[in-house]
Amino acid sequence: MPRSFDDIYPSRGEYDRFHLANTAFQRVLSTGERSYSNIDKKVEKMRQGIPGFSLIDYSFSDAALTVALASHSGRGNMNQGFYSWKPLGATVKPEEIPRWEGTLKEAASVIRKAGLYYGAADIGFCELDKRWVYSHTTDDRPIVFEDVEEGYITDKKVVIPNSHKWVIAITVPMEVEEVMYAPTALTPVARMGYSRMPIVAGSLAEFIRGLGYHAIPSGNDTAISVPIAIQAGLGHVGRHGRLITWNEGPMVRIAKIFTDMPLAPSPIAPEGIIEYCEACEKCAKYCPSQSIPLGPRTYEGFTEANNPGVLRWFCNADTCYEYWREIGTGCSVCFRVCSFTKERGVSHNIIKWFIRNVPQLNRFFVWSDEVLGYGKMKDPKEYWKE
Ligand code: SF4
Ligand code: SF4
Repeated sequence: MPRSFDDIYPSRGEYDRFHLANTAFQRVLSTGERSYSNIDKKVEKMRQGIPGFSLIDYSFSDAALTVALASHSGRGNMNQGFYSWKPLGATVKPEEIPRWEGTLKEAASVIRKAGLYYGAADIGFCELDKRWVYSHTTDDRPIVFEDVEEGYITDKKVVIPNSHKWVIAITVPMEVEEVMYAPTALTPVARMGYSRMPIVAGSLAEFIRGLGYHAIPSGNDTAISVPIAIQAGLGHVGRHGRLITWNEGPMVRIAKIFTDMPLAPSPIAPEGIIEYCEACEKCAKYCPSQSIPLGPRTYEGFTEANNPGVLRWFCNADTCYEYWREIGTGCSVCFRVCSFTKERGVSHNIIKWFIRNVPQLNRFFVWSDEVLGYGKMKDPKEYWKE
């Protein structure tokens, strides 16, 4: 019998919903400090002539964010761009036609098929666990639940309808090849992910509206993505605090949709990832800012940016972000070195089978991953020559 989410990730005491103003990014911005990718820092890095920080490298990565920015969706701009809470008009269900009805399983199957077509790496479903919905927006408006048909936002509050009981968790892919140049500006994968997220989430939300239901698509906004993705069966959270999926490892970004369309919940992903991370401390060892803990999972975080109370590994988001500010770009070393960051292949699938079924071999795989040189940084000078 597979274990439930709460068996694998027990919580201790009262879990308080997280205030979005407490992320490391927001707290730095609220002190008047500038973001890690401010223009002066870029100029300083370009002038230093360090490979991976040239004009071409920065421009390449920045351009990957084009769709997210030009569509006003951003990394998760609540109710904006493709993350609009209102229909965008791409689909219109004729009033005289009743809304589409199917069993929970049929509905999940249809949504999954459509989402994969729109570009998702994977799609999973779960019932909404309100713990993961942010308590407040960055500008301190409470996010509440009401008996209304449609979600709405005012300058006083954000309202999610009680009828939106289901969540669709969506992963979009990030490339293994390009993350091998981390930590430099030549790492467009996160930005490209942010451009893919609104395309998939926005299109799928319109599809759902066309079937006669309501949909609230979201990126990084509205709710914490990782626990939702776990509850929707897409993977487990690793030592570095990122979602690890069995197919793409940590090389995904997560979007989600809240909906009143009933959907069959997905089973929890097979276990084995946490047990592997217990044997492997590679990300902790290589993290340039020592933000990733060694040792077992805990209930306590490091800073206000970590919401305590659930058993997991907490990444120190403050020291991590400080490092980004120091180098003038996102870091992603933990993505690069993670043992689950691998191109797809038969041999890797066989090893993953052993990780799931014979955890006694985990230490051997940890050792061989290191010996075989997986996750080594590539020379940014070579990228443009290939
Ligand atoms: S992004 Fe870099 S600094 Fe931050 S936790 Fe990962 S490895 Fe450490
Ligand atoms: S590097 Fe190792 S310990 Fe860190 S998240 Fe990946 S598998 Fe887990």
